[in-house]
Amino acid sequence: MSSATAALVLAGGQAALLAGGLQASAHDLPLGDDKISDAPRAGYVFSCQQRFNKNTPGAHASGDWLGTATWDPDRKPHVQGSVTWPAEISIQREGERRVIRANNLPTHPTGTFPIQRSDPAYQYDRNNGRITAQDILLEMPAVPEIAASPSCVPMGMIGFTLTNAAQYNALDGRGDDAPAHEMQDKCGGHPQQTGQYHYHNMTPCIDDTRSQPGGHSDLIGYAIDGFGLFGKYGEGGRKLTNQDLDACHGHSHAINWDGEARTLYHYHMTDEYPYSIGCFMGTPANLPGSMGGAPQGPDDGPRQGRGGPENRPGGPGGPQQVLANAAAQLGVSADALRRAVGPPPPDFQRASRMLGIPADEIRRALDAARSGR
Ligand SMILES: [Zn+2]
Ligand SMILES: [Zn+2]
Repeated sequence: MSSATAALVLAGGQAALLAGGLQASAHDLPLGDDKISDAPRAGYVFSCQQRFNKNTPGAHASGDWLGTATWDPDRKPHVQGSVTWPAEISIQREGERRVIRANNLPTHPTGTFPIQRSDPAYQYDRNNGRITAQDILLEMPAVPEIAASPSCVPMGMIGFTLTNAAQYNALDGRGDDAPAHEMQDKCGGHPQQTGQYHYHNMTPCIDDTRSQPGGHSDLIGYAIDGFGLFGKYGEGGRKLTNQDLDACHGHSHAINWDGEARTLYHYHMTDEYPYSIGCFMGTPANLPGSMGGAPQGPDDGPRQGRGGPENRPGGPGGPQQVLANAAAQLGVSADALRRAVGPPPPDFQRASRMLGIPADEIRRALDAARSGR
């Protein structure tokens, strides 16, 4: 018997028995599939990537933990194994900045990746990623400020946790609810194609301690805009839902910040989709591998969303048009693609991380757009 099944017996109790054992668990969560928006919206991911290819590699099958509108984390299999890692992480305040240097190898044991053929999870998801050390250098304001308007969350790292793992948004490569569909280990993590170990919801492998004023959860990590990422409990020690939070999945009140009481915006984790950050209230840092400098182009303006590439500035064959055509082919907005590849020459590895699209595919799309194909 798997531990997931055992947990159900304990947790489901009378309701599950009455309903015939495996029909109604007390832990069903609403499924977040297709809850993607092109503007801040509670309960949704305001995603930089707006179009998703449903044929993207990922979980290829599902089981009885997944209903048509709900899923049950207690019944979902975990990737097996217990592998320990030489974690290196330092988080320092350097004047006005907070700097995270880390190798992104988690402080807790992980499952065995690539997922082994003998692992029951293999029948659902053949993730062949291998957990690999990353060179994380994340610089953020130590006391962030709210930006003029919220901004979308990219694919890839949107936060970094104290357990030395990346926090990703709630979406898998197909735009579906990642925690519900993809196979993660007991800590809710797995690697993507370049081996970056990450979570899509709150890891159960960090204690949701509550030593903040009023029984509020403690910090579990930082969003890449510098605001804190806290556990599931709010003021008064009450477990939070989306209703308690704004469209970006946060709120402002007095918290303990670097040892001082301060009223400051922060994000919370919830059991409910989108689980973590839904959009950025601050200004997200340039990601590792980026060329640095100011954000490129009109990226902070309204998102292009599903608008056609034909409205973009730049004549036919110009760089803007090439970018727009390649973006349309990849199913992302031109802004997202421009931000992902960075200034010339294009950084395909970084673009791949940010967009969740294989680097080769991005290169092909840009080549094709350049040659007018
Ligand atoms: Zn993932
Ligand atoms: Zn709070």
